[in-house]
Amino acid sequence: MCPCRQPAYHTAFRQLITRRQLLRGVAASAAALLGPQLAHAGSAAATLPQSGPILPRPAQADAILFEGSRALQHAAAQLAFFPRPAGSAGSQACGDYILAEWARHGWQVDTQPFTYRGTRCRNLIARRGTGPILIIGAHYDTRFRADNDPDPAQRNQPYPGANDGASGVAILLELARVLQPEQLGRTIWLVGFDAEDNGGLDGWDWIIGSRYMAERLPLTPQGMLLVDMVGDADLNLYYERNSTQSMNEGLWATAAELGYRTLIPVPRYRILDDHIPFLERGIPAANMIDFDYPYWHTISDTLDKITAPSLETVGRTVQAWLGAGAPGLPAPRYTRRVFIPRIVRG
Ligand SMILES: [Zn+2]
Repeated sequence: MCPCRQPAYHTAFRQLITRRQLLRGVAASAAALLGPQLAHAGSAAATLPQSGPILPRPAQADAILFEGSRALQHAAAQLAFFPRPAGSAGSQACGDYILAEWARHGWQVDTQPFTYRGTRCRNLIARRGTGPILIIGAHYDTRFRADNDPDPAQRNQPYPGANDGASGVAILLELARVLQPEQLGRTIWLVGFDAEDNGGLDGWDWIIGSRYMAERLPLTPQGMLLVDMVGDADLNLYYERNSTQSMNEGLWATAAELGYRTLIPVPRYRILDDHIPFLERGIPAANMIDFDYPYWHTISDTLDKITAPSLETVGRTVQAWLGAGAPGLPAPRYTRRVFIPRIVRG
């Protein structure tokens, strides 16, 4: 990802969202007119963010809790495939590892292959549960080169990507062990995005895999949560400014309830990241990212810079947020296709 400091982009983006929200409101009103069976899914309430107080969580005495030490092991396992940029043998092997771990915990796994600038890439997908779809994503590719290294001699070196790459996926892998989507009443998709992180190198753009997926969704998810750069030993997570603010508030309030002080409910960066293609399609999305990380795109983004407690803070926050009914996640949009007979005038 990269920090996006272009107000014009943001303004145009907000206008786009506003128009979409307006259209959604019209659609909801139309649905309400079509009868009770349809209105329940498309009522006016569906257009309003659910940002009320956090619901009490079910007792977690017998729940399996997210463990940071297990997540850190998953990060270490990914780094063993070094280097693992899009299209590499390391990426293929790392992707196979991720898919195997998901499958081992009872998730249905799939891949979404695509080719970009002659490079064969693939998004990784794990699905479980029934009900409205929530995507929880992270990019699993690493940047071709550590081009931000302070030492010019190192800038052609492959990028380790412990925090920027492995940390987010580590969350997805440990979540696969602890989440019970069937009990959450929703369908969870865990997604590993490919080709996120080569923006500006060799003619590549950013967020290729997430854009590919968002443009081809067979169903409209209720929302999307992105975790990226969440393992920093010095964790400080602020609201990301492109994110759906009600989701930010629900997640950060959950962290506060858990006693975590490293999620700071203050806006900070505006980041171009894998949540953007979903937001552009009117899908609520939030990005949990700690962009205050001095090793970003340097050869020093290594395993020793990330910690189990930081990963656990993020993982348990997401787990508790889901257990509380995902406060701040706007209600599902009405997406069922309706057959309306054409009126033929004789
Ligand atoms: Zn990056």
